[in-house]
Amino acid sequence: MKKNLAILGSTGSIGTQTLDIVDRYPDLYSVAIISANSNVDKLIEQSLRYRPALAIIADKSKYSALKGALEGTGIETAAGAESLVEAMKRDDFSLLVAATVGYSGLEPTVEAIRQGKEIALANKETLVVAGELITDMLKHSRSFIIPVDSEHSAIYQCLRGEEAGSVKRLLITASGGPFLNCSEEQLRHVTVEQTLNHPRWKMGRKITVDSATLMNKAFEIIEARWLFGINPDRIKALIHPQSIVHSMVEFNDGAVKAQLGTPDMHIPIAYALSGGKRLPLGDNALRLEHFSSLTFSEPDTKRFPCLDLAYEALRKGGTSACVINAANEIAVQAFLEGKIPFLQIYNVIESTLSLIPDIKRPDLDDYIAVNSQARAIAAEKVEHLIS
Ligand code: NDP
Ligand code: MG
Repeated sequence: MKKNLAILGSTGSIGTQTLDIVDRYPDLYSVAIISANSNVDKLIEQSLRYRPALAIIADKSKYSALKGALEGTGIETAAGAESLVEAMKRDDFSLLVAATVGYSGLEPTVEAIRQGKEIALANKETLVVAGELITDMLKHSRSFIIPVDSEHSAIYQCLRGEEAGSVKRLLITASGGPFLNCSEEQLRHVTVEQTLNHPRWKMGRKITVDSATLMNKAFEIIEARWLFGINPDRIKALIHPQSIVHSMVEFNDGAVKAQLGTPDMHIPIAYALSGGKRLPLGDNALRLEHFSSLTFSEPDTKRFPCLDLAYEALRKGGTSACVINAANEIAVQAFLEGKIPFLQIYNVIESTLSLIPDIKRPDLDDYIAVNSQARAIAAEKVEHLIS
């Protein structure tokens, strides 16, 4: 049966690659809802091409341009973050592709779970911020999540057909980012341009910075903890610069299963959209004969301290990961704007975390409040560093 998609973040890296899959399989997928933050030109172009029922622009200042361009087409338009949440209540789609960046993914995804929608989750920050709440909600909903993140897609694939009690550890691979071999002294001086030059993956700017600080891997450890219900001390990150092994599962008998493939997000996106089917995607064969070696090593948490924040957040529980996410968003934005150096990203997060008391068993309102509070404090920290 054909699936109607709501693609939140359709103009981004994951969003456009999702549309590539729709192009390839028009009999399987159609597009009901698309959204952008502020790139109104691309949203208009996508609307005219894919003819969704609804196009949403989060940035309200761009709404008149969207509305004007789509007048007379029959495509509904809306604006604002609240419209993303409202759209999840519609019955003209069944599968949400959650592909916005950062905290913005949380509230629409929560609503999609309430509505019992199927979810292809790229927006890992949703589980970082509110993994406990999301997991609880999923227990009482028809809704289910299939991960898009390549590591979690790999683990999901390795776990299929296995007994839940047979898992010993999850081994999450990390490319190590562009600064894998830089000294601490060199890290002090890295530029935005160098940071955005990821050796393996072409992604949005925020996740590319997160990959360079290894915060992305910290987030993926938190994401895995909630997706797979596994204790954090049984989740390990391994540096694997070739990005061919997307992650592994070690079982009680010592066997290890890995999922391999070319570093191409179309593969996990198509897998999630299809509910775990193997759709041919053209010539993307992995030619292992081109790799003389695949290497694995321990991450260096002295040079990349963000990684340890994952374990700290999971140990503390409650709202601490929400604080880390919010402070990271502010710090990364400040770095991208050239306001703070690379190594200060960690310091902004760490000092914000130390100032905000933890709330146990948070509900959605708690997360919303803590997110705002942490952003405000992190912004003060940034200002303090500038002055
Ligand atoms: P991009 O920056 O390329 O795209 C983000 C999309 O979300 C764009 O459509 C953007 O609109 C929209 N958006 C950004 N901010 C907001 C906001 N505040 N409210 C509403 N919409 C917003 O990011 P990616 O596609 O790289 O990443 C998307 C998510 O997927 C992230 O959570 C990331 O961690 C995750 N992910 C990405 C991978 C990748 O390969 N790219 C791999 C694994 C996970 P506009 O175009 O107008 O800015
Ligand atoms: Mg990933």
